[in-house]
Amino acid sequence: MKCFPILSSASFQVTLDMYTRDFQYKILNRILFTNAKLSKLKLVESPLCTSCGKDEETPEHLFVFCQSSRAFWKEISSWLRKWGIDMLPDLTDQVNIMFGLFDAKSHFMLLNHIVLIAKQTIFFCRQKSIAPSLIIFLAHLKKDFQNRRIPCQRKEQIKSTPG
Ligand SMILES: [Zn+2]
Repeated sequence: MKCFPILSSASFQVTLDMYTRDFQYKILNRILFTNAKLSKLKLVESPLCTSCGKDEETPEHLFVFCQSSRAFWKEISSWLRKWGIDMLPDLTDQVNIMFGLFDAKSHFMLLNHIVLIAKQTIFFCRQKSIAPSLIIFLAHLKKDFQNRRIPCQRKEQIKSTPG
């Protein structure tokens, strides 16, 4: 997979915070530090996946094809269906996971944001050498929600301050 312009990613269009944009930028431009990249730089001995140890840990393997990630995306899909999102794009599809859900019929912003948080969860779990799970994803989602709420509350305080 070659590099794509950052604006061609649905994932990139839905986020405003710099950490998440930086994360998606690294995925799209193949500069995320996975074992495949780190071994080329002689920073780790093996290019193999931290989770399964079977295949080279490229971004595609880490986020799409690794068995632990596949199981995780199934959990995310079930969780979304439980909340009534039935017209769900395929969350086993490489393009959907890597670039975002261009064909989301409804909840475009929400679903693409969830895919981004899910990818951050996978990468976080890789760094901790644990399998990604719905519980960890929900903790990330809650933290993301709280981080977004605080600036909104401050903005409201500024508006309500008599001037
Ligand atoms: Zn793997």
